[in-house]
Amino acid sequence: MVNDCIFCQIVAGDIPSKTVYEDDTVFAFLDVNPLAPGHTLVIPKDHHETLADVPEDTASDLFSALHRLTPVVEDAVDADASNVAFNNGEAAGQEVSHVHAHIIPRFDGDGGNP
Ligand code: 5GP
Ligand code: ZN
Repeated sequence: MVNDCIFCQIVAGDIPSKTVYEDDTVFAFLDVNPLAPGHTLVIPKDHHETLADVPEDTASDLFSALHRLTPVVEDAVDADASNVAFNNGEAAGQEVSHVHAHIIPRFDGDGGNP
């Protein structure tokens, strides 16, 4: 755990969040500032800054969770599709330096990419 990391504090339960899913290595929770209803963040429980820093077995767990959660999130808000994306590094718009995937539900006619 990195003490000044918001997402490490969320995993530890020190900052409240709306949990979507949890297992031994992965945690998923609702984004506090959603771009669409159901906007979910999926993270490894261990602190790694970018995707390349994540050990391969953890990356596999992360992708497996994304694979299972994406349709569940879409169904929960009756979405037609979703954007599943990493902002991977500061220049790419990553604001929280604990690697995370966004699942952003999309709806027919909702007006383009976020
Ligand atoms: P990034 O721009 O780093 O890819 O996305 C970071 C995301 O984390 C943003 O969508 C932002 O709304 C979300 N976020 C930042 N702080 C918190 C927090 O304390 N709780 C939750 N649930 N989401 C957060
Ligand atoms: Zn962290």
